[in-house]
Amino acid sequence: TRGQLDESDLLVTRNLVGGSWISGKGTPIAVDDPFTLDLVAEVTSVGAAEAQAAVDAARDAFPAWAARPAAERGAILRRWAELIERHEDDLARLITRENGKHLREAHGEVAYGNGFMHFYAEEATRVLGEIIPAPVSGRRLYARPEALGVAAAITPWNFPLAMLTRKAAPALAAGCTMVAKPASQTPLTALAFAKLGEEAGLPKGVFNIVTGSASAIGKVLTQSPVVRKLSFTGSTEIGVMLAEQCMGTMKRISMELGGNAPLVILDDADLDTAVETAMVAKFRNGGQSCIAANRIYVQQGLRDAFLDAFAAKVDDMKAGDGFDDSVDIGPMIDAAALEKIDEHREDALSRGAELLAGGGSPGGRLSVPTLLADVPADAKLAHEETFGPLAGVIAFDTVEQAIALANDTEFGLAAYLCSSDPARIDHVASKLESGMVGINTGLISTPHAPFGGVKMSGVGKEGSHHGIEEYLNRKYVCHAGL
Ligand code: ADP
Repeated sequence: TRGQLDESDLLVTRNLVGGSWISGKGTPIAVDDPFTLDLVAEVTSVGAAEAQAAVDAARDAFPAWAARPAAERGAILRRWAELIERHEDDLARLITRENGKHLREAHGEVAYGNGFMHFYAEEATRVLGEIIPAPVSGRRLYARPEALGVAAAITPWNFPLAMLTRKAAPALAAGCTMVAKPASQTPLTALAFAKLGEEAGLPKGVFNIVTGSASAIGKVLTQSPVVRKLSFTGSTEIGVMLAEQCMGTMKRISMELGGNAPLVILDDADLDTAVETAMVAKFRNGGQSCIAANRIYVQQGLRDAFLDAFAAKVDDMKAGDGFDDSVDIGPMIDAAALEKIDEHREDALSRGAELLAGGGSPGGRLSVPTLLADVPADAKLAHEETFGPLAGVIAFDTVEQAIALANDTEFGLAAYLCSSDPARIDHVASKLESGMVGINTGLISTPHAPFGGVKMSGVGKEGSHHGIEEYLNRKYVCHAGL
């Protein structure tokens, strides 16, 4: 399952700029395997000049791509999606090699990520304009959707394929061309995706991908007047900085930033559903997801039963090699990620939290799935994104208390709620300050629904018909003298 990768495994180490595979002059990016810590591959590192060349290529390719019938753009996306399906094994292996997540989850990511390709292949042909009733006679008023131009994407390491497809698919479907920069921890999946796009028949310059210095490439993408749109997924800190850089050229922006999702469990919830929701919302992708439940609030009446059942499940989970069938959770992405999890655990314990399952680090980049009860409100775990398999449970008395606790954060990406009372569900869901709410489920992401946050979790939507709107301008035409 491991072994040396080559071209037959979709290993690509160069960048695609204007239809050519190029190399940069920077020190190559060493991509390591988070489980073995061995070198997987060295990927080219480019700087500002190559990023500019990619922007120029995207600019040159734009008019013809935008003018193509939407059905033709859709057909190319569909061929690309078929190639992704055919190479599902290669892509899943690349994801596990460079990201560490379990191979089962890597396969899940390929299917989920490819869902955006399929969805927007169709959606391309469903972008409609409007005819507006004129307020005076002799005039025709209408609004026509037009692609914004060159779009840039900067993507993170936690879903190396899906975070890219949910930007590239709507952008290209809308008629934009794109320059993408994947995270340096996980460039291989993104480069393989670009390679399949080339095979699918993408015209030169429509999709370009550059890897290397984030700040040098980021500056070109944010400051170029040619780039009309930036879609970023990553930390709030970097997102705020990129948004500020973009405003000098007044770009449209989509920002999918940090989260600190609450899971509120009311005492009328079904116990099995609550435990299942907590398991998925917390531990999917090893907890390395921006919509991961970071704080679990359980009402006093259900506290003891919930903790018993949840602790048994957490105890059963095993951290290890993502290629090992008996393992549930692969290694964390890097040493810094592991340090943050350890810090949150130790901080909560030192403030009086109780350890119910897991704890400790077995070595390498493995983090043992861990459950803490009675996490005090001032613990780091209660207000900072942990991004790992550490669950903290906090008991509450009244529904109003739970709403206040859930909203006591600068973030507002996802929130989860477990209850079997429709009236209480409706009340709490309406009061939660978040872009998304999962009720009696921890699994909410799908290409068919609008994903996005409020407050410091960002702006804009990905997925659904809203996702393609992010790449369109509605040009209003007022035709007089008729
Ligand atoms: P994470 O916590 O997910 O690593 P980051 O915000 O650090 O989040 O990274 C997300 C993406 O943003 C990555 O592709 C990273 O390379 C990129 N990035 C990081 N710093 C900068 C920067 N200064 N300019 C542009 N992109 C950046």
